[in-house]
Amino acid sequence: MSTFQAPKGTYDLTPPRSATFLAVREAISAPLRDSGYGYIETPGFENVELFARGVGESTDIVTKEMYTLTTKGGSQLALRPEGTASVLRAALEANLHKAGNLPVKLWYSGSYYRYERPQAGRYRHFSQVGAEAIGTEDPVLDAELIILADQAYRSLGLRQFRILLNSLGDKECRPVYREALQTFLRDLDLDEETRRRIEINPLRVLDDKRADVQKQLTDAPKLRDYLCDACKAYHEEVRALITAAGVVFEDDEKLVRGLDYYTRTTFEFVHDGLGSQSAVGGGGRYDGLSEMIGGPELPSVGWALGVDRTVLALEAEGVELDLPATTSVYAVPLGEEARRVLFGVVTELRRAGIAADFAFGGRGLKGAMKSANRSGARYTLVAGERDLAEGVVQLKDMESGEQTAVPLTEAAAELAKRLG
Ligand code: AMP
Repeated sequence: MSTFQAPKGTYDLTPPRSATFLAVREAISAPLRDSGYGYIETPGFENVELFARGVGESTDIVTKEMYTLTTKGGSQLALRPEGTASVLRAALEANLHKAGNLPVKLWYSGSYYRYERPQAGRYRHFSQVGAEAIGTEDPVLDAELIILADQAYRSLGLRQFRILLNSLGDKECRPVYREALQTFLRDLDLDEETRRRIEINPLRVLDDKRADVQKQLTDAPKLRDYLCDACKAYHEEVRALITAAGVVFEDDEKLVRGLDYYTRTTFEFVHDGLGSQSAVGGGGRYDGLSEMIGGPELPSVGWALGVDRTVLALEAEGVELDLPATTSVYAVPLGEEARRVLFGVVTELRRAGIAADFAFGGRGLKGAMKSANRSGARYTLVAGERDLAEGVVQLKDMESGEQTAVPLTEAAAELAKRLG
């Protein structure tokens, strides 16, 4: 293994592709910031307990995929495999829910870790932008979040994604369904591990990808037939609200998702250009999670969108983001004196809020002009000894190729004017 190899299942973000990741994070969070969501940041690790109780002791995420460690002081920690449990924990710790302003609306962006078998679109370290609305049961809130995710993807230019929607019922109706499903599943021809799953988390069996399992599930009882009136009405309202907003979705009664805490509304965003790892984001309502981790009753809803897979989705659709060049002015000094003088101009430009860069290392004109081109700068400032003797710099418009001598003392002002 080379010393320069990132760990298995991880990759580095380097320029220029890294700019796309920043733009995607920005695009996903912008609709949230404009809708009353405040930024929250939590540690990259938490006590294992939180995820075991929050995400669910029977889930793959907790049993197989968590990076756990024992600290020198003997604490059991886990690198966060997802964001919701941490954000809720932090909101409870800070008593945000007691500030009298429910729902508490939060957004976050960060790294998550799962020990999964790496493949295209599935990594051991990945990045999500997420949103949580804590403490309110209101179908408008569920609708808001789905609409904002749709808006984020559309603003990026994505079109080939689909929204799958389902209701998982609540603590009244889900247990009744669970039992009916268990009774049905126990009669099927299934392997040991799947049999165990029937007892711990039977809904997950519906999610089994194997054809021989799916074949046996055709007549499985449907959650839809077991939803209580309150859940049915709630779900109809969510559907009506997102329909009214012009957001297209598909009802998917098989959608259960891999986390235990979901109740009622659940949804997933899938992209058809990504092969098997097609889920670009997902979320739903988690009315019982706060109590599961020892908090008060706080019905909540949220989602997390995967940044890595969103970038892959853009590439699959051939969408090129319109990323403006980061550098507006590039300075090319020819000689020692010019280095000092032009670096002074660059500093002045930067302080005036104009993005400027400099040909470092005393390179020749040709190489420096290549760098100027590569930087995407609209203007280049070139100065040699003769220019300085005349008190001017050469200002070159990189689009038209036109070059004009500008008095040194006016260079910054002239550029500010031209760049508007
Ligand atoms: P989940 O919490 O599993 O619903 O994940 C939410 C989103 O995070 C998914 O839709 C993916 O976009 C992303 N995601 C989850 N696991 C991974 C992974 N191992 N690698 C890359 N992205 C992931």
